Formats: sequence, C-alpha cells, structure tokens
Amino acid sequence: MDNNTTTLLDLDGLAVERVERLTDGTRRVHLITADETARACPSCGTFASRVKGLVRTRPRDLSYGERGLELAWLKRRWYCHEPDCARKSFTEQVPQIPAGARITARLRRAAALRVRDAGSTVVQAARDLHVS
Ligand SMILES: [Zn+2]
Repeated sequence: MDNNTTTLLDLDGLAVERVERLTDGTRRVHLITADETARACPSCGTFASRVKGLVRTRPRDLSYGERGLELAWLKRRWYCHEPDCARKSFTEQVPQIPAGARITARLRRAAALRVRDAGSTVVQAARDLHVS
C-alpha cells in the first residue's frame, strides 16, 4: 500500500499494509508497525531482536466516512533478552494504541471532550462516536 493511504489514516507508528472491503461493505484496514521504538521493552528499554509470535488486535478508532473503518493491526510479541529484566516478553505498542488499549488515543480524547464540553454521559459519548 502506498504512503498516501498511511498518511490518510494518520496513526503515528503504524502503516497501512492493505485495505479490504468485506461483503457487508465494511472496510478493514490492515496495519503493520512502522515504528522501531515499538520493539523496545517497556520495562528496561532494551531493543528486542527475537520475535515470539504475532498478535492481531482490532482497536476502535474515530469513524471515517459513513460506514467507518475496522482496524486490524498485526503486531509482534517480542522476547526481552535482557537477563536482569523481569519482563520476558511484550507486545508492540505505539502512542496512539498503547498495549492493552481497545480504542485509539484519539478516540479516547474525542469521547472525553464530549463528556467534558458537551455534557454527554460516557455512554452517550460512546454511542455518538460509534464505540460499542
Ligand atoms: Zn526488558
């Protein structure tokens, strides 16, 4: 996928590998990691060099277009080879999608602004932003 698609999506640290249209019309955006610091151990900072496996996550993001997008990020799980580090393995993370996050940071911010500025409840903000 060319850089224009990655630029259009605008999620720092991630690159669009390809976009797939599902039979129901949903566009699934396949993402790969494009940030070398994502393989730095979050505990000790050592850059990992041996992959333990792959993990596919589907974080929710701001809607885009009438049907929205479905994100599918294939991220790597790395071994931490630092002998003194208690963490033996970790998954990649980028600022927009920290480890364990189910929504992007920008979607989290948008929901928080709706609650703060528009007086929405958390549930209403989630509905308005198509987060279920
Ligand atoms: Zn470590």
